[in-house]
Amino acid sequence: MEDLTSTAYHEAGHAVIAVLEKLSVIRVSIEPCDEMLGHITYDTFHFNDEYCAARGLERIERGEREILQLGWERWRGEANARTVLAGEIAERIYAPDAPRSNGADRDLHRFSLWLIELALDRGEREVYGQLLRMQTERQVRKYWRAVECVAQRLVERKTIDGAELVTMMGPICAAA
Ligand SMILES: [Zn+2]
Repeated sequence: MEDLTSTAYHEAGHAVIAVLEKLSVIRVSIEPCDEMLGHITYDTFHFNDEYCAARGLERIERGEREILQLGWERWRGEANARTVLAGEIAERIYAPDAPRSNGADRDLHRFSLWLIELALDRGEREVYGQLLRMQTERQVRKYWRAVECVAQRLVERKTIDGAELVTMMGPICAAA
C-alpha cells in the first residue's frame, strides 16, 4: 500500500509553490482519482486587460502590449515548471530514502514540456532546468513549515480548496 503521508507531502509541495507563484489553485487532494494517488488543479491568470491593470498599465500602446505579453509567457512557463517540480522535491525532503511515487514520472514529463516552451536550444534547456530545480528546492525548503501544515491537513481531510489554502498559508509565509 502506498504511503498516504508521502502523497500528502507530494501534493502539498505542488500546492505551496503554486500559491507562491501566484497560480490560482482550485483544489488539491489526496483522494485517488483515475490512476493518480493525488492531484492538484489550478489555473494561470490570463494575459488580458486585468493583468495589465494590476501592473498599473491600463493604457498601453500596441507595441508595449507585445513586450508585456512576452513577459507574461515567461512567467507562466516558469511558474508552471516550478510547481510541477515541487511535488517530487517535497516528497524527497520528507522521505529521502523512500521510492518515488508514480506521479513523479508524470511530473517530470510535464516539466520537460514546459522547458521546451521556455527554451529552444537543447543545451540551454539543460542549464535552465537546473536553475528552475534549484530555485524550486530553495522555495520548498524556505516554506517547509507551510508544506507540513498543508500535508497534515490533507491527511486529515483529503481535500483542500484554493481559498482555504491561501488562508492557511498567509500567516506562515509572512513569518518565513
Ligand atoms: Zn505530482
